[in-house]
Amino acid sequence: MTVARVILRPKRAQPFFARHPWVFAGAIERVEGAFTDGDEVDLITHGDTFVARGLINDRSKIRVRLFSWNEGQSLDRAFFRSRLEAAIRLRYQMLNLDVPDGGCRLVASEGDGLSGCTVDRYGQWLVLQLTSLGLANRREMIAELLVELLQPKGIYLRTERGIGQLEGLELHDGPLWGEVPPADLIIVENGLQYRINLPEGQKTGTYLDQRENRAAVAKLAHGRTMLDAFCYSGGFSLNAAKAGATQIEAVDSSEAALKLAVDNAHLNHFENISFVKADVFVHLEKLVNEGRKFGVVVLDPPKFARSKNAIDEALRGYRRLQSFGVRLLEPDGVLVTCCCSGLITPMMLEEVLAQVAVSERRNVQILERRGAAADHPIAVTCPESGYLKCLIARVG
Ligand code: SAH
Repeated sequence: MTVARVILRPKRAQPFFARHPWVFAGAIERVEGAFTDGDEVDLITHGDTFVARGLINDRSKIRVRLFSWNEGQSLDRAFFRSRLEAAIRLRYQMLNLDVPDGGCRLVASEGDGLSGCTVDRYGQWLVLQLTSLGLANRREMIAELLVELLQPKGIYLRTERGIGQLEGLELHDGPLWGEVPPADLIIVENGLQYRINLPEGQKTGTYLDQRENRAAVAKLAHGRTMLDAFCYSGGFSLNAAKAGATQIEAVDSSEAALKLAVDNAHLNHFENISFVKADVFVHLEKLVNEGRKFGVVVLDPPKFARSKNAIDEALRGYRRLQSFGVRLLEPDGVLVTCCCSGLITPMMLEEVLAQVAVSERRNVQILERRGAAADHPIAVTCPESGYLKCLIARVG
């Protein structure tokens, strides 16, 4: 099959030989041949050398998403099947995440060489999220392949806010294949039960990327009090309660999130978690003024930096949160500071913590530098696929 050729500007090919999958419009000189958005194209250097095969979308800032660096490889059903199989092998054969009532990320977009495709499993149900037009156009094929490979009870489509405009695609949330997920879907993670609201929950239902961090924090929470700021459905609190934390206060501004968290606390028979509906910035300041102290403080805010211009503002936000966190910790307290803004590097987050240690006059030692759970792999050629940072620190 002949495909259109996307010719790069001079000296712009290096990142793509280095296998970064996003070709922005500015790198492209011209396109030779006819194409429709979503079609396969070859990326070619200015000197006429093949670089990679991808899918084009003139309406997106990411003009071409690259999938294969083998010349002549067509991006057909067999190609996507083998990518999906490789992604599933990681979770099921290498990470042993195939427990029937568990949840895991089965496909992590760029992390699995499938830019624009995320698949999460919640028990017998799959949630598919497509953030590129090329893959959105192929959703029926992707759903068929997922059914062949995984035999789920149903596949539910979730869309990301704003993506329609960014990619010029029209997708709507709803069942894509099979049975509609039940309203009372429950999964088990780290031995704890969670109620999952697939149609309405945040992200695709919950934050699977924090699974291992919740367990790591719980190990330090035995016999201590904890403040869980930005708790969503209560993940850090439940793990700490199970590990023997004495008293836990969980804070979130979303009514729906707190409802899930309260349900989850009941489901697991914990009575030592209190829930507060409040803006974390306001509430933490109030706790500081009251002179409250905790053994463990978890800060897991939403993404603060959505664009490069927002980085400074975001860093100020993290600094404020960490300052509150440090002030709320008793001696030998544990600060857990998470950051899911891909634009904030691990170094930046550590620098903020160093500034806070100095200004608050507390000795801070990083005990663990953590990231997302292993079912959210980072493609080494696409650093953006590693977005989550989680520092666990002792505050003297
Ligand atoms: N820690 C959670 C995930 C947190 S996601 C877990 O382990 O699952 C971020 C949460 O922050 C969301 O639930 C969102 O409702 C909440 N949130 C966002 N801005 C907030 C604010 N200013 N104050 C309180 N909660 C906020």
